[in-house]
Amino acid sequence: MDLSRFISKKDSSEHITPKRLTIVFAASEVAPFSKSGGLGDVAASLPQALAQRGHNVIVLTPLYGHLDPKAHRFSRRLRSLTVPRKSKRQDQLEATLWESRLDHGVQIFFLQADEYFGREGLYGDGDQDFEDNAARFAFFSRAAVEFAKDFTLPVDILHCNDWHTGLAPVYAKHYYEEEFAQTSLVMTIHNLAYQGKFSPDAFDDTGLPKSYASESELFDDDGDLNYLKSGILYCDRLTTVSAGYAEEIQTPQGGAGLHENIANRSTDLEGILNGADYSVWSPDIDRHIAVQYDIDTLNGKRQNKAELQHRLGLPIRPTLPLVGVISRLTKQKGIDVLIPTVSTLLSDLEDERDGFQLVILGEGSAEYRDALEELQKEFPTRVVFCSGYDDPLAHRIQAAADILAVPSRFEPCGLTQIYAMRYGTVPVVHSTGGLADTVADLRDDPDKGTGFVFDELTVDAFAGALDRACAAYRNYRKWRPLMVRAMERDFSWHESARRYESLYLSSHAEEEESAAQ
Ligand code: ADP
Repeated sequence: MDLSRFISKKDSSEHITPKRLTIVFAASEVAPFSKSGGLGDVAASLPQALAQRGHNVIVLTPLYGHLDPKAHRFSRRLRSLTVPRKSKRQDQLEATLWESRLDHGVQIFFLQADEYFGREGLYGDGDQDFEDNAARFAFFSRAAVEFAKDFTLPVDILHCNDWHTGLAPVYAKHYYEEEFAQTSLVMTIHNLAYQGKFSPDAFDDTGLPKSYASESELFDDDGDLNYLKSGILYCDRLTTVSAGYAEEIQTPQGGAGLHENIANRSTDLEGILNGADYSVWSPDIDRHIAVQYDIDTLNGKRQNKAELQHRLGLPIRPTLPLVGVISRLTKQKGIDVLIPTVSTLLSDLEDERDGFQLVILGEGSAEYRDALEELQKEFPTRVVFCSGYDDPLAHRIQAAADILAVPSRFEPCGLTQIYAMRYGTVPVVHSTGGLADTVADLRDDPDKGTGFVFDELTVDAFAGALDRACAAYRNYRKWRPLMVRAMERDFSWHESARRYESLYLSSHAEEEESAAQ
């Protein structure tokens, strides 16, 4: 008797994988080994979510100078990876591969090529980008293609991420059309603001033949070499990290000069929201925070708040809302609007029980660091600025803060507001990209709202939203259900990984079909 029709659809789709795909996922950063922002989180968690769905996923990433293979117990592959730097056999470099594993059976390979990556810093030394970034990431892109070509199994999907791997589809199509005929080349834009633009002289670093020097696909109208544009035009499928951002990048305002190129590929473009890895970002299991808690033990959150206030030298005041900001310090993140907004709200407070406290954790340029230090000096009992990159502190702020502010000018997806919700930390966000897609304003829907959203990125609008959040905080009967609703929102990878899977499958089927013709 055939029992299949009695098995509910949901259960069967969760456990039966239509085809086991072999996916090489190439990314310039993978948490916890290397991370400058959300890309690092995604490059760790999406491969694991895909592996959980039954796929064979292999991650490739550079071995940066701060990574000691012995300390991490990586194992060295006996065979090195030969990476040509010009045409097929010219000027080869032998790169060592180190292997390790993420959870759920994901293999991760670290590419050791010390002349490119064996130094401190991923993309620069803190204040400036490395001068040889064009050569470094042309090399990484080429290595990703050689790696996928030589992998022990035929690779169905080569998934490239951001400009650092933008040239990979070009190399695959130029040098190995036959070998990659059945491999689908997927490109994800995590942030269109970073395109890997270099002066035309850097063309030599790509190793591509001179005929490409006149290809408009590789260059901007102003003559600059553009790695991301190349990837966008040469890939088979294009994705970005939220539906809202997928729309925005096709407009002149949001397209950072590439809106026409992206709009021309709109049938191949899909916006798939990033997920959260709740095995890393969840207050009931977070090992970085003082007291673990969940919806039923929310008192634990108060203890985390008191601990952080104490640790940072802020007055311990349970009734004063604590606002957190965890962010790269760049123009994108709206730090230039955050500073005057905070000044406006904290100046001339009549009662020390009014207003809020603020902790900002951020790494970025001297200009923003100086301005934030000034802000701290102006409001020493209210504002603490923690300069630098500190993952454990990011977790502690998520657990301790009552409100997380994200005033980004634009935001492809944004992960901090997604993590915040799981910690019962209510987000106050600018209505853009993934922020607008993930946070529902309380005023628009008092029964379903999960935060506070403001439409214009101005001091007035941001101050208004922060004021509304602080007022709501003072009414615990209103605030608690808001926290609980935010904590109950599910942004796990489950649905997004399923969408990547169906995109891979349909793209791969197309490649197979055209290869058969
Ligand atoms: P983006 O990728 O644009 O930087 P996201 O919100 O997508 O922004 O991801 C930011 C990630 O980086 C989150 O995991 C956040 O916790 C982390 N992060 C940002 N700044 C810092 C910092 N200074 N220290 C530690 N973690 C940080």
